[in-house]
Amino acid sequence: MIDIKKVRADFPILNQKVNGKPLVYLDNAATNQKPQVVIDSIVNYYSTFNANIHRGVHTLSQLATNAYEEARIKLQHHFNAKKSYEIILTAGTTHSINIVATGFTSLLNEGDEIIVSALEHHSNIVPWQMLCERTGAILKVIPMNLEGELVMSEYDKLLSIKTKLVFVNHVSNALGTINPIKEIIDKAHNIGAAVLIDGAQSCPHIKPDLQALDVDFYVASAHKICGPTGVGILYGKEEWLNKLPPYQGGGEMIKKVTFEKTTYADLPHKFEAGTPNIAGVIAFGVAIDYMNELGFDNIASYENELLQYATKKLLQIEGLKIYGTSQHKTAVISFNIGEIHPYDIGTIIDKLGIAVRTGHHCAQPIMDFYKIPGTIRASFSFYNTFEEIDLLYDALVKAKSMLC
Ligand SMILES: *Cc1c(COP(=O)(O)O)cnc(C)c1O
Repeated sequence: MIDIKKVRADFPILNQKVNGKPLVYLDNAATNQKPQVVIDSIVNYYSTFNANIHRGVHTLSQLATNAYEEARIKLQHHFNAKKSYEIILTAGTTHSINIVATGFTSLLNEGDEIIVSALEHHSNIVPWQMLCERTGAILKVIPMNLEGELVMSEYDKLLSIKTKLVFVNHVSNALGTINPIKEIIDKAHNIGAAVLIDGAQSCPHIKPDLQALDVDFYVASAHKICGPTGVGILYGKEEWLNKLPPYQGGGEMIKKVTFEKTTYADLPHKFEAGTPNIAGVIAFGVAIDYMNELGFDNIASYENELLQYATKKLLQIEGLKIYGTSQHKTAVISFNIGEIHPYDIGTIIDKLGIAVRTGHHCAQPIMDFYKIPGTIRASFSFYNTFEEIDLLYDALVKAKSMLC
């Protein structure tokens, strides 16, 4: 069970007024808020043991290195990777995808095919298009239906011996749809293709078991799971990470450097050039502990109650249309009211203290599919309340009356 009073007290930012009204933060799919323990961990690192890692023999450097490597092990256990060095610490999902997409340049030939889904964030589309430009590989797209679900029978038709790689998100950030990733992975493996799962939007709601999924690559960002910005993971199976060339050259990623030839460091350091976001990685580990203490089952069931309540409530508004109506959804409601531009509603309800996202949500192909410029997206977290949903409803009714 989520003790909502206690949970909200952990998040100092929630207890404030915005534009004279109590803040109602419903933009969790863009980034969620940070509990005090995560904020404290950053302050504590810089106030007591800030030092560069993996280099110094001095005490602070060892403390920093230990804390950084402990965070990697927490992440290994949380995501259930077989080896800690299969967890590469990156700047976030976008960075992680670019490491893989760039690495595949030397592994693809002209005419090879790679498969994306219609439900992707731009950061899981554009790096692959760039890869196709470099290699002459061909990008195929699993289509979606009106409910905002992938059409799996079309996926079956796209798979062939030409397919080398499939990359889909676990949860769509624009609609909240939960995709059938186990089926996607198994079918790709049947024809010998590798799979990358973008977990940026699912990881705050669903704890994945990477070994059970048997996925080849998995990427996520700390800032959507109560951690800081600018940190994330790239998980890769050991054999894949060995196959991929390094992404960036620099310090930390080398074994030996001479002007004639440089040899690369072992995993994970091969992909961790330069001084990383040490405080951020340590805080990411603290965020993971915090989430696990709450319990992912508790989080999912509470958020599902919020979703059901909000869906019923918002549908009472005449002319309100929800995009993304799959039975398998996280707590995201993407909608429009009549012909009103989402931006106009977002601006008015901001004056009433309510933070939602408006626009295409970095997923323009989905908006094109529905032939709309964008949506208003209310995305919920385990610290949101039923009263906040009522405030959202009241604000939308008011905005509608002002704009119609
Ligand atoms: C947020 C998000 C990304 C991008 O994450 P960054 O932290 O901005 O790199 C990619 N995919 C999905 C599904 C997302 O929700």
